[in-house]
Amino acid sequence: MKVSKDLNRTDRPTLSFEFFPPKTPVGEEHLIEAIEKLGKFSPDFVSVTYGAMGTTREKTFYWAEQIKKKFKIEPVAHLTCVGAERKDIAAQLKQLADLGIENILALRGDPPSGETKFVPPKNGFRYASELVEFIKEEQPKFCVGVAGYPEKHTEATAIKKDIANLKKKIDAGAEYVITQLFFNNQAYFDFVDQCLAAGIKVPIIPGQMMITSTKQIKTLTEKCGATIPKELLEKIEKNAENPDAIKRISTEWTLEQTRELIIGGVNYFHFFVMNQAEPISTVLSELGF
Ligand SMILES: Cc1cc2nc3c(=O)[nH]c(=O)nc-3n(C[C@H](O)[C@H](O)[C@H](O)COP(=O)(O)OP(=O)(O)OC[C@H]3O[C@@H](n4cnc5c(N)ncnc54)[C@H](O)[C@@H]3O)c2cc1C
Repeated sequence: MKVSKDLNRTDRPTLSFEFFPPKTPVGEEHLIEAIEKLGKFSPDFVSVTYGAMGTTREKTFYWAEQIKKKFKIEPVAHLTCVGAERKDIAAQLKQLADLGIENILALRGDPPSGETKFVPPKNGFRYASELVEFIKEEQPKFCVGVAGYPEKHTEATAIKKDIANLKKKIDAGAEYVITQLFFNNQAYFDFVDQCLAAGIKVPIIPGQMMITSTKQIKTLTEKCGATIPKELLEKIEKNAENPDAIKRISTEWTLEQTRELIIGGVNYFHFFVMNQAEPISTVLSELGF
């Protein structure tokens, strides 16, 4: 089922999670456990990252298929432009279609570690908008989503330009946006307003991540350009060596952040759960999901 179908429903919010394909058998066990536990919240879809965190492309497709066939949850397979020629992407699209996958999150991808600049592959794509256009030409039946950045993409010189580039992805056929993680709701609300003013009318799903480690979140936010509000940063720095305190702080923050989004009229929620059922399960139960 195309995930865009449910994004405009009003009776209850849509819920989704992002997983990454594990690299080890132990990691696979953890993922299965997480899917089973989070499956109890009846997510509308789960997405599987591609090439991120050093994982391989084949595993994205494998897990997307498992999630659909074994766990009966709608998968969204991430796909990037990194290191792929048009013909490779055409073959991957066919493979996904043959596996019965109907949803793709189309991304440019990051430069390989150690490199600062994204170099488009020969006969490949420079921007995600080109990938969206290609998917729509090759396999028009796919429902395509794209990434958005409430605090602007790190390479963009101004948020307005970044939003103009996001519009290109929507004009190419993308049906929804999932945002980069953010901790400051005002950044998300301002972004949605600016997107609307720029003519972007598709659902903009907020992407949220719970903090499980001070070091990890600082590295991640530095890389993706998200900011940690001073109040939150002070708390997690002070408790960096105390995992239980981090869990409590993160749970309180995510609860408050999600409540504020709900009050602000948001009706879809996407969580980057890092293949862990906790602590997000506590938050979702508390919120009545
Ligand atoms: C929800 C989410 C999921 C993600 N999943 C993955 C994943 O699975 N694997 C992975 O490797 N990465 C993933 N990423 C990270 C993503 O690949 C990086 O953020 C990457 O740097 C940009 O990808 P994009 O699709 O947003 O690129 P684009 O939309 O192509 O934008 C990249 C930059 O180019 C600019 N730009 C775009 N079009 C034009 C144009 N026509 N002219 C000039 N400038 C332009 C944009 O403003 C931006 O600065 C994810 C990000 C998010 C938010």
